[in-house]
Amino acid sequence: MSGKLYIYNSLTRTKQLFEPLNPPFVGMYVCGPTVYNEVHLGNLRTFISFDLIYRWLIASGYKVRYVRNITDVGHLENDADQGEDKISKRARLEQLEPMEIVQKYTNSFHQVLDIFNCLPPSIEPTATGHIVEQIEMTKTILSKGLAYEVNGSVYFDVKKYAEKHAYGILSGRNIDELISGTRDLDGQEEKRSPLDFALWKKANPEHIMRWPSPWGEGFPGWHLECSVMSSKYLGTKFDIHGGGMDLKFPHHECEIAQNCAASGDEEPVRYWIHGNMLTLNGKKMSKSEGNFILPRDLLHGTPPLVDKPYSAMAIRFFMLQAHYGSTLDISMEALSASEKAYRRVVQAMKELNNQKPGNTSTWDVKVWNLACEAAMNDDFNSPVLIAHLFEAVRIINGCKDGSQQLDEPSLNFLKKQMYLYVYDVLGLKPEDETSGKMNQLEGVIKLLLDIRKSARDRKDWATSDLIRDELLKAGIIIKDGKEGTTWEIN
Ligand code: AMP
Ligand code: ZN
Repeated sequence: MSGKLYIYNSLTRTKQLFEPLNPPFVGMYVCGPTVYNEVHLGNLRTFISFDLIYRWLIASGYKVRYVRNITDVGHLENDADQGEDKISKRARLEQLEPMEIVQKYTNSFHQVLDIFNCLPPSIEPTATGHIVEQIEMTKTILSKGLAYEVNGSVYFDVKKYAEKHAYGILSGRNIDELISGTRDLDGQEEKRSPLDFALWKKANPEHIMRWPSPWGEGFPGWHLECSVMSSKYLGTKFDIHGGGMDLKFPHHECEIAQNCAASGDEEPVRYWIHGNMLTLNGKKMSKSEGNFILPRDLLHGTPPLVDKPYSAMAIRFFMLQAHYGSTLDISMEALSASEKAYRRVVQAMKELNNQKPGNTSTWDVKVWNLACEAAMNDDFNSPVLIAHLFEAVRIINGCKDGSQQLDEPSLNFLKKQMYLYVYDVLGLKPEDETSGKMNQLEGVIKLLLDIRKSARDRKDWATSDLIRDELLKAGIIIKDGKEGTTWEIN
């Protein structure tokens, strides 16, 4: 792949040339799900966005180590340091062991990502698998004087940290404004300042998920796991850290502070990438607000929010038609439009395989390819790439009706690049549900065309015309040509 990649870095708020620390290796960490219930389409959008990024880095020749964690402890209900652990609460409600909840929703997460053709990460570490390392990092931060212990819990001292380091660097928040804007939450009186956050929390007697530590039995704070697992697998300084926009503050801001406090490196992550939110009726899709659709609701067409079943690939295509950094509102109208557009791509891919080369080329496939590359190198701009793919679809259809032609090298190059962009980069599967149905349809139509051919051989025009007319009524146009009969969806 040629060309330079530019990434919008949330840290500098500019598009920057991507220069990995140790090319061709790239380290990328993405915050994974808290496995206490099924992922909704909003969560899925973020994972599809990073799947696209991962795929483009691979296509560009990088050797990527993609680490995406599973949060299976420490994420408390109010996202701050209060409330019940989300997993423990679910375990109580479903009358299961917390680890059964973790397994159940990890399995379901993997299934969903598989259906939507997201590549698995290189390493998928869990928070509970890294308790020892989290205790170690807490000890290190304590030893630097940037945390304090109170009553079996350890808190990060934000004010002390901010004396020498830039707390708020990622979210652009100023520490004084933050303090004046933060309410003292009930039960947080142990903290020296409301901005401080837990590295380690003492477990109350009723708390099920607990581990021994130098400060007594407890559990790690939510932000700590990502600092520990990213630095363990990618080093104290690494290339890319991603997650949804809503994690920028406090989660990612606290991660930077922890990593910097522990290692002394002011810039533990070179490029911060944040995926924007999927909205429903203009509001962020969210479980807690009850404003959400589950992937299977779309796949099954579950009323009242969903009007009919949509294939996983049509949904993926819909998501990729927006830039990862823009918000995207989901509606049945928008999904139906994407489904139609995606079908045109599927049809063109099929057509491409049957296409015969011409003597000359009426279209410059090399120039087109450079434009596709440029789109992806411009901060992974999938909607622009898709617009270029439709240009190719127009040419493919033109070749079919004779208004365009491509010589052999151009046609072969176009095939190769269309496979690359559609299947490898956008991650659209040919054997998707839609194409599965298309395959069945193809089989049935082939049978009808064979029957029609033998009818015509027998000069049974009535049967031949009946088949043609009935297919037309069903939305299938057939055309008799020199090289036999072809068909297409009207
Ligand atoms: P969680 O399991 O809540 O930690 O979320 C998993 C991922 O989904 C995080 O990266 C979130 O930022 C992301 N996320 C949550 N809600 C949305 C949404 N409505 N649109 C896009 N991403 C989201
Ligand atoms: Zn995280």
